[in-house]
Amino acid sequence: MSDTSDHTPEIMDAAAPFNDHRADVILRSHDYMDFRVHKLFLSMASPVFNDILSNLQPAAISGAAMRNSDLVRDGRPVVKVTEDAKILDLVLRLCYPGVFPGLTEMDAIRGVLEACRKYAIEGADRTLAEVFAGMVDRDALGAFGLAIECGMEEVAGKAAFALLKMSLSTLVHTPLPCTVSGEQYRLLVQYHIDCGVAADGAVQRRESLDALADASPDLISKHQLCPKCFQSDMHYYYAPTYVQDYLHRIGMHLRVWPSAEQVLPLYDGELRIARAACLNCRKERSSGLAALKARLAIEVNAAVASVPVPKFL
Ligand SMILES: [Zn+2]
Repeated sequence: MSDTSDHTPEIMDAAAPFNDHRADVILRSHDYMDFRVHKLFLSMASPVFNDILSNLQPAAISGAAMRNSDLVRDGRPVVKVTEDAKILDLVLRLCYPGVFPGLTEMDAIRGVLEACRKYAIEGADRTLAEVFAGMVDRDALGAFGLAIECGMEEVAGKAAFALLKMSLSTLVHTPLPCTVSGEQYRLLVQYHIDCGVAADGAVQRRESLDALADASPDLISKHQLCPKCFQSDMHYYYAPTYVQDYLHRIGMHLRVWPSAEQVLPLYDGELRIARAACLNCRKERSSGLAALKARLAIEVNAAVASVPVPKFL
């Protein structure tokens, strides 16, 4: 009776470009996927791979060992590695010429970064930092924690900037990744507060009003364009009361949520109704709000960008 109790897991074959039968060595992932690779590419990309592949025992790939075994497959030496197939695929793509594929999962980035550091793959940190930065907008908090964990200062700064899209109260009530220390958390919150002060200041200061008046002269003017709805409570400028209310309320929001993108649209509905309410001038005010908000966004963004990003590491 034949023995059917063979527990050796089924070996899977990796997809292109790691299924090339001309390749001279096989890397077997922790979860039993075989990657057929060219030693040349790996040796050039990584001194650690170079050592491993240079030290393969010729005896292991000759004679009786030519039969398929744990050490040999199809006459090629098999090197077992600890990475799983998903991570190994990405690591090998970093070694091969061509474009590194986009990564969308934080865990994959962590795994690839660890493996790249273990194998000392040239330029991998730089490539991964670029990929990583692309992930910041999707999950700023996760990216911040991972950047801290992986020692990527620049990415941590970009993530802190992206976190301005979160209000201060949301930020302080959201659990941070455990990799973030108390001091790093304090720096993150202080940066958010400083940006809030700068953003609010950009709405209130005289220079911004000059810029807004330039961009939207039918809403902010040194002349009382409509005797019914224009008042002159803003330095030397007249503006409809709903515009003055809007700027005041937006400033208060920006102080704790320094993101023009998030805050400026908050009162769109109310503004439309208020604008239509003045029967005396509503036709003349139909197009100015979009220009005013576009200019306001520029002022706020510039003010926030002028706040120095802390050194988190
Ligand atoms: Zn009016």
